[in-house]
Amino acid sequence: MQNEILIIYRDVKYPRIEIKTGKPVLIIPSNGKYDSAELISRHKNWLDKKMAFAKSIQKKYKKLKIYSRSEEELSALTSKIVEKFSKKLKKKPQKIIFRNMKTKWGSCGTNGRVTLNRMLKFLPPSLVRYVAFHELLHLTIRNHNKKFWLAMSQEFKNYPKYEEKLFGYWFLVNKANEALENNHAPNLIKPQPKPRYAQVIIAEELG
Ligand SMILES: [Zn+2]
Repeated sequence: MQNEILIIYRDVKYPRIEIKTGKPVLIIPSNGKYDSAELISRHKNWLDKKMAFAKSIQKKYKKLKIYSRSEEELSALTSKIVEKFSKKLKKKPQKIIFRNMKTKWGSCGTNGRVTLNRMLKFLPPSLVRYVAFHELLHLTIRNHNKKFWLAMSQEFKNYPKYEEKLFGYWFLVNKANEALENNHAPNLIKPQPKPRYAQVIIAEELG
C-alpha cells in the first residue's frame, strides 16, 4: 500500500511519525541531522501496518454517535462514576484533573492524581466509565499486567471491544474537535478538499 507522507520540519529533538487518517505526517527536527527518505524507507512496514489498521477501524466506526456535553456535564458524570468505582476498588484518587491530551484518554500519576482527557465529553457514558475505571485501577495496579487486565475483564467482560471502540472514537472525536477549533482560529493551512480527520493517534518516536 502506498501512503503519501506529509513532511514537516520542526524544532524537535527526534523525528516521529504521526498517523492522521489518510495522511501520515513525518515530523523531522530542523537541525538537518535526519534524512526523510531514509526514515520513511526504514519504517515503511510499520507505517503500512498502522495505516491499514487505522483505516479499517475508521471505516468500521465511522457512524458512531458523538455525544454533546459541556465540560460541567462531563465533570458531573465523571464524579458520579469515580465515586462508585472508588468504593468498589476501595481506593480514592487524590484528585481528578481534566486536560486536553493528544495521545491518550487518561493517565494516573504515582501521586494518586488521575488525569482525564477533556475529549471524553464526546463519548457515550459506557466508554467514560470504561476509561475512568482503567485509570482508577492504576491506583492499585500500576502496570498493564495480567492482573490488571483480569480486573478489567471482571468489570467489563468484553473489554477488547471497548478498546477497539475507543480507538474508533479517537478519530471521530478529534475530527469534531478540529472542526470546532477551525471555526474559531484563522486557517493558516491551505484548505483541504477532503475532510481532515484526527489528531495524533499513533505516534512513534524514532531514535
Ligand atoms: Zn493504563
